Amino acid sequence: MTIYLLIVATWLAGLAVVFGYLQRRTLRRLWREPMLRFPVLIIESDDWGPGPPADADTLLRLAQILGRHRDARGRSATMTLGMLLAVPDTEKIRQADGRHYHAVSISEPQFGTILAAIRRGRDEGVFSPQLHGMEHYWPEALMKASCDQESVRAWLMQDGVPRNEDLPAALQSRWIDGSTLPSHALPENQVAEAAARETEVFRQVFGTEPSVVVPPTFVWTDAVEAAWSRSGVGVLVTPGTRYFSRDVSGKLVGEGEPLYNGETGVNGMVYVVRDDYFEPALGHRAGRALAAIQGKSGVGRPTLLETHRFNFAGPAAQKEGALHETELLLRSAVERFPSIRFMATAELAGAMARADLDLVEQSLVPRIRIWLARSAQMPRLRKLAWLSGAILPAWLVYRALGLIESMSAPRTDPA
Ligand SMILES: [Zn+2]
Repeated sequence: MTIYLLIVATWLAGLAVVFGYLQRRTLRRLWREPMLRFPVLIIESDDWGPGPPADADTLLRLAQILGRHRDARGRSATMTLGMLLAVPDTEKIRQADGRHYHAVSISEPQFGTILAAIRRGRDEGVFSPQLHGMEHYWPEALMKASCDQESVRAWLMQDGVPRNEDLPAALQSRWIDGSTLPSHALPENQVAEAAARETEVFRQVFGTEPSVVVPPTFVWTDAVEAAWSRSGVGVLVTPGTRYFSRDVSGKLVGEGEPLYNGETGVNGMVYVVRDDYFEPALGHRAGRALAAIQGKSGVGRPTLLETHRFNFAGPAAQKEGALHETELLLRSAVERFPSIRFMATAELAGAMARADLDLVEQSLVPRIRIWLARSAQMPRLRKLAWLSGAILPAWLVYRALGLIESMSAPRTDPA
């Protein structure tokens, strides 16, 4: 009897070793990705910048909501603001009959109340400004497109402050020329110059270099990343992959290779992953965001919720709905996850890079369990584990470690 058990055990161990060897690269990356000891929630909000004065009021209300909800450490909820630093000067463009591009900076007095609301929220710890871009588009590409797209020409020459959200998606990718599709690469020297310039303007506006950048539509090239890095930007927000162009139908094209939290690019920029969504105007309710926190914290990952200005700056009913959902989300998050931590993305990236003992799990038993749970979430790994039979030893180890863990303090909040 003993001999049969020994044969089965050896066979299972052998399968696990072969499986592990074949999948070693992915398994190693899942192991190295920092494992968090607490649920972490960050609402990442893009596209703020020059706008109508009503945006200032919206920001003040958002700041009040964020300030009302605190984690167990007493830290208020934080919303990152992906900042745009300029918009078209439509009056000047009209005067030039649409032949020349002119921009107006967020530092102009007409946007003073918006900037004041952002700075105040930053000082109170509820807003964390991040670099989104000087503009959301590449100005030359926009001017080219305006020659044969009447809607783009009208956008550039309209009364009032244009909203980048109204532009065709391909033109909203700042770091490619999307005026014709498939998109074209931009001259690298111009890209480097523009990336350095936007970080400098951010510093002039906010008094400090941006620590975090969010590439518009998640399209960026090596040249942009190198220029940001040279200018002192240390963290890059990704959707868990990278895009570098658009195909003939405007669809984003990327390497397809996944990116994990805490990994670094060739220039040393730290990547963080933002792949959950909280766009109330598109029907995303607080419940969906809570499910995301549950899922992410179960595998030791932070929850970065992507949202945009349009939810909060649209028609009155849409704006009120988004503010209400934000309030509900924060209140429910604190109730349901008492150990939740609110922080800014820059702080999270710093804690991950330092392997901060307070936040990042170091103990072997919970680390192995998280690693197995992460692996089980990947469809390809799960399928191969079933086919090879490695699923059985993996499951046995997971359950055994769960028993050991349950004898000590629970790692995360109950569901
Ligand atoms: Zn954007």
